[in-house]
Amino acid sequence: MNSRPLRVTVVGAGPAGIFTAAALTDQDAVPVEVHVLDRLPTPFGLVRHGVAPDHTAIRDLRKSLQRVLERDAVRFTGNVEVGSDISLAELQASTHAVVLTYGAARDRSLGIPGEQLPGSIPATDLVSWYCGHPGTDPSAVEALLSGATSAVVVGVGNVALDVVRILAKGPGELESTDMPQHVLQALAGSRLRDIHLVGRRSPARATFTTKELRELGELPGVGVRVDPRDLELDPVEAAAAEANKVAGRNLAILREWSERPRTETARTVHLHFWSRPREVLGTDRVSGLVLERTAPDGEGGVALTGEDRTIPAQLLIRSVGYRSVPLAGLPFDAGAHVVPNHRGRVVDDGVPLAGHYVAGWLKRGPSGVIGTNKMDALETVGAVLEDVPQLLGREVGHDLAQQLAERGLVTTDMRAWRRIDDHEVGLGASRGRLRTTVHDWEELLSIAGGRPDALP
Ligand SMILES: Cc1cc2nc3c(=O)[nH]c(=O)nc-3n(C[C@H](O)[C@H](O)[C@H](O)COP(=O)(O)OP(=O)(O)OC[C@H]3O[C@@H](n4cnc5c(N)ncnc54)[C@H](O)[C@@H]3O)c2cc1C
Repeated sequence: MNSRPLRVTVVGAGPAGIFTAAALTDQDAVPVEVHVLDRLPTPFGLVRHGVAPDHTAIRDLRKSLQRVLERDAVRFTGNVEVGSDISLAELQASTHAVVLTYGAARDRSLGIPGEQLPGSIPATDLVSWYCGHPGTDPSAVEALLSGATSAVVVGVGNVALDVVRILAKGPGELESTDMPQHVLQALAGSRLRDIHLVGRRSPARATFTTKELRELGELPGVGVRVDPRDLELDPVEAAAAEANKVAGRNLAILREWSERPRTETARTVHLHFWSRPREVLGTDRVSGLVLERTAPDGEGGVALTGEDRTIPAQLLIRSVGYRSVPLAGLPFDAGAHVVPNHRGRVVDDGVPLAGHYVAGWLKRGPSGVIGTNKMDALETVGAVLEDVPQLLGREVGHDLAQQLAERGLVTTDMRAWRRIDDHEVGLGASRGRLRTTVHDWEELLSIAGGRPDALP
């Protein structure tokens, strides 16, 4: 085997990108140099800016991800956006292979009237806000939250449950998270009393997992209400619940909640199934959501019934999925919102595009847990390693790090990340917390000591 190292650039330092770097450097048949880029000054993707702050054990996964980025053969450069700071074609010119793992950060829309009214936001905005994503404007979310006593979250996946739980929790329970201080304050001042979760289909089709669902019913001072009528299933839905263990367990929890005696609580979470959002009401901002009752169509889908009702709400959070965006020079499936690929090799009209690979949510869409990206990255790295003879046969230009430095870009590296990490831990300690996330982009760069040359 050739001793010249295979240079691989990974675009995106989320789980998929880091698992790609791990798989490339776990093997020793092919010497490799891996350069992981991210548009943010910090690594870890949705592990830092998506996973709910109160799920501390999962957020702690970043420690093992960090160890990968600290390997000798791996280099991390943050604050570099591929597509604007450097093009894919330029990356290709300086590297044997590019693995694209830039995720699926955009929301999908409901496609109903009134959806764009102030007060209606995608879950991505709320999640980014409470996780301290530096691309968010905190004041916009905080203004909406401060005026709301009732919120509706549309969607029945784990992200929707995260959002409901974070909005329902009291400040005492959030203190132990790493949320930015201003987020903690805004949530402490929230006047929300009712939080509604809305799903179009049967409860047997909800995609949330049981552990996350159960958590909702265990929050101090929070009542949970489910209409028993929503839990009546026709034979097709009952069979679906029977066939899917998670759905069966979820239904058992929902049934128990539907039978709980109603008591007065500071906040109440209402779960609604068989309810299709039809229209967002409001003139200058959201005032309610019209829901149309659905019914089983006997084939696992739903039929409309024409029976409408309105939930008054000043805040509407749409959690109906994520999608990827195209990148110049990269084939894109605009229907499925993924990069067309065969086992991780990017394909254009079915033909592999030499030197281009994809992993993670950009490859398979926004599904699965963090660990799913590990197997996914392994498959992609398998394809890269099979292609080594062809990849090394191409001459590549000068070092990417040097190229970035020559552009005068302010970048970050792992030393910079450690400075941010130490700073956040210190900031937390000064307030009796374990960590306080810094959300401001410029502040992150200044803590990082970001400078035109990030070469170690
Ligand atoms: C709100 C939310 C909560 C979740 N909670 C959990 C959970 O509790 N447990 C669990 O197992 N899974 C959870 N997941 C799923 C998990 O986060 C994903 O499976 C995983 O993050 C996908 O990895 P990825 O690397 O494909 O994408 P991402 O994690 O999104 O990483 C993509 C990276 O690419 C970077 N990037 C984007 N564009 C560019 C560009 N042009 N140039 C350079 N870099 C770029 C981004 O900044 C980001 O760092 C959650 C997901 C969401 C959305």
